[in-house]
Amino acid sequence: MNKIFYLNKLKKKILLLKKNFPKKNLVFSDGNKNAKIMIIGEAPGKNEDKQKVPFVGRAGKVLDKLLFSISLNRQQVYITNVVNYRPDKNRKPNLLEINLFKKYLFQHIEIIKPKFILLLGSTAAEAVLDYQGPLNLIIGKFFEKKIINITPIIMTVYHPAYLLRQPKNIKTVNKNLNNLKKYIKKT
Ligand code: URA
Repeated sequence: MNKIFYLNKLKKKILLLKKNFPKKNLVFSDGNKNAKIMIIGEAPGKNEDKQKVPFVGRAGKVLDKLLFSISLNRQQVYITNVVNYRPDKNRKPNLLEINLFKKYLFQHIEIIKPKFILLLGSTAAEAVLDYQGPLNLIIGKFFEKKIINITPIIMTVYHPAYLLRQPKNIKTVNKNLNNLKKYIKKT
């Protein structure tokens, strides 16, 4: 399958949603389209909108550090968000927006075909796992879910922006990521 062809096709479909986000840029993805790990965040912030690249602001620096802690960098993972345009005033995307993008997110996952998906925070868990309960009940746990016709292993961790506000939880994420690394090594 030609991933570039299908990613461009998907991008064109998502560009049609731009009308719902006036004056915002499409922030599609970053990293390696052949990576084993796909990372899914919430939605772009101000810096991401400006640079049209996900996770380039303060939360992005935290994400880079987390990846570094398990000897990974951006070129070894694939990064996107549930919502591909910056919601006004950086608010959390609402259910309507999550559902608007979910179909495209699943197509995105199907094109990339990651073996592992790392969900960052509750919006990503809501979109991918249909999970609406307390995040701490699923943090660090492994799930398997069929998405179109692939079945990746999925783990949720706290969102890097949350870690900026609650740095004491960094330890938990480091532990979760180490478990993920061990799991990947075994497979
Ligand atoms: N937060 C996200 O969820 N995604 C980004 O791209 C940046 C910050």
